[in-house]
Amino acid sequence: MEVKLEVKNILVPIDFSDTSRKAFYIALKFAKLFDAKTYVLHVQEPLGPFDSAESMEKHSDELSRVIDGVKRRVNELFDEGGLAEVDRRKVHIEIRGGKPYMEILKFAVHEKMDLIVMGSHGYTGVKHMLIGSQTEKVMRRAPCLVMCVKPDDFEIGSDITGVPKKFKSK
Ligand code: ATP
Ligand code: MN
Repeated sequence: MEVKLEVKNILVPIDFSDTSRKAFYIALKFAKLFDAKTYVLHVQEPLGPFDSAESMEKHSDELSRVIDGVKRRVNELFDEGGLAEVDRRKVHIEIRGGKPYMEILKFAVHEKMDLIVMGSHGYTGVKHMLIGSQTEKVMRRAPCLVMCVKPDDFEIGSDITGVPKKFKSK
């Protein structure tokens, strides 16, 4: 069987948790390696129904605040990470509203992603869970490669013998 590894488009979904930040930096390293484009996607839960022009205006104000906030935070990550060598013209910031896993999958299909790099855990979950619900759902149905980045302090589990319980990932 012949397998081609072409990585032109990389998707990194980010909720700004530590693990998703780590995924962001790893995604950019892969982007450099493959000379790929990177899409940094943040999904905002729906803002609620609009029932009047007034409330719609309020929502659109809120939305532009969200968009500004996401852009600012991604730019901060660039500065914190010493990513001077990264070509920012090849990094796109995307914002969607909805359920994270659904928007991640839709984006991957419609924009033809070759690789999704995401954290095993996020912002909202419980630490001892093996894997976050969004990542699990994406992994089940993604049309492309998915790379799952572990947090720095994850525990490998005592049922795997011969390794310390607290196994630090690099
Ligand atoms: P929970 O299942 O309770 O949400 P969790 O927050 O620990 O648990 P996930 O939400 O699955 O786990 O987060 C895992 C990864 O999914 C994150 O590291 C991030 O890459 C991605 N992710 C989660 N939420 C979003 C979001 N709103 N927008 C973009 N990416 C997200
Ligand atoms: Mn979450």
